[in-house]
Amino acid sequence: MILYHEGDTIAAESTPAGRGGISLVRLSGPAACKIASTLFDRSLPIAGRHSFGKLIAPDSSRTIDEAVVSVFEAGKSYTGEEVVEFAVHGSPLVVADLLECLYKLGARAAEAGEFTLRAYLNGRIDLIQAEAVADLIAAGSRQSADLALRQLAGGLSRPLVEIENLVEQLLIWSELELDFVEEDVELANVEQKIETAELAAQKLKCLTDGYQTARRVREGVTVAITGAPNVGKSSLFNALLGVPRAIVHPSPGTTRDVVQSKCYIKDIAFELFDTAGLRRAVNEVEDEGVKRAVQTAQNADIILTVLAVDNYNANAMLLDTNTPVIEVMNKIDLRPDINIDNKIAVSAMTGFGLEELKENMYKTIIDEHRLNAVSLNRERHFFAAQRALAALQEGCRALQEAISGDILAEYWRETLAAVGEITGKNRCKNLLNEIFSKFCIGK
Ligand code: GDP
Repeated sequence: MILYHEGDTIAAESTPAGRGGISLVRLSGPAACKIASTLFDRSLPIAGRHSFGKLIAPDSSRTIDEAVVSVFEAGKSYTGEEVVEFAVHGSPLVVADLLECLYKLGARAAEAGEFTLRAYLNGRIDLIQAEAVADLIAAGSRQSADLALRQLAGGLSRPLVEIENLVEQLLIWSELELDFVEEDVELANVEQKIETAELAAQKLKCLTDGYQTARRVREGVTVAITGAPNVGKSSLFNALLGVPRAIVHPSPGTTRDVVQSKCYIKDIAFELFDTAGLRRAVNEVEDEGVKRAVQTAQNADIILTVLAVDNYNANAMLLDTNTPVIEVMNKIDLRPDINIDNKIAVSAMTGFGLEELKENMYKTIIDEHRLNAVSLNRERHFFAAQRALAALQEGCRALQEAISGDILAEYWRETLAAVGEITGKNRCKNLLNEIFSKFCIGK
């Protein structure tokens, strides 16, 4: 649980733990300069500058390391607080020694994501920008890194602020009219109000329309490979990955657990899940494998249903789900002339048809028109936006039906609360904990 004490000065290594050219240790809080100057063998540089010197352990006069020390003044640093950064040699011993000294001098170990949490609490960034920092660090493809960078630069915050401004205007009109209810004042006519509400709704809709594509760019696409035993699911899984990851064997029921691995199609991560063959299981272990296969398929973004030319009528269990299904006819090398209807013909063995299959997987799931659009990209954003949209639409209906001002004001407040949840205007402790605890230490 993240506990935020404003008075604390926190420290952590910001580079990954281990040996390397340089390790960066960050110190942030009101005592950062005071603590750093106790260790540094010369005066600290002025804010925005760097200085090279020795770090001396205060109790023993021992040299911890030589370091480049940088100072950032409060209000202009990453966290918004006084920050000192130590670039030391990339040795875990040096880093541990330095941190130990910083703790002895009054700093405490930073929690996961606490530097970014402070940046958010100090108004340097909003919550969606903070999430973008985590996304950028976790990004596995250029596409997902670009998405995070656009979000970090305010690409998603700006349209949300525009929506907030429009709804705030509606709220001001409603509240002022309520204040002057006796005088029967109307600050804007109904058409003007409806137009404003509709514009806000339209902007919100734009952000939710690209949600699925943006979420998939960010998180990757999950693909369940299902079908009867022995149709070549594991072979197809390996062929799509380009490496022999899953065990391939002529006897049915070889894959019992779900095996997963990632491949990239046009710079989008596709997480492939090889599952147990869907059949009435012959023993308990296989039965558990089949249960897991069904569960994986139900949670996937796409299901590849694999058939094979040598057991075309294999009695695979049918899955009841709304997930898009791509039907694949494998082992086409055995009977290249077979009629495959709308299925995609492949041979996991020769590689025939794999490019067409990948293209199909990509097209099924990625809306290219929305690839570079500004969109919400987390479930948390999406559900809050849905609530905001519902309240806005109720407000529009109330305007059309000339429903009284206090009910209207309530709809606008509901909309603002939901949008504020996305940007983090409403500081909900549980939500902050949920978001920042997933960060790495030092960020
Ligand atoms: P799974 O049980 O569905 O995962 O099937 P496997 O991938 O273990 O394959 C079952 C058998 O079919 C193995 O002997 C594979 O070598 C063979 N097989 C898989 N794909 C192909 C293919 O494209 N062509 C041919 N001729 N054999 C294949």
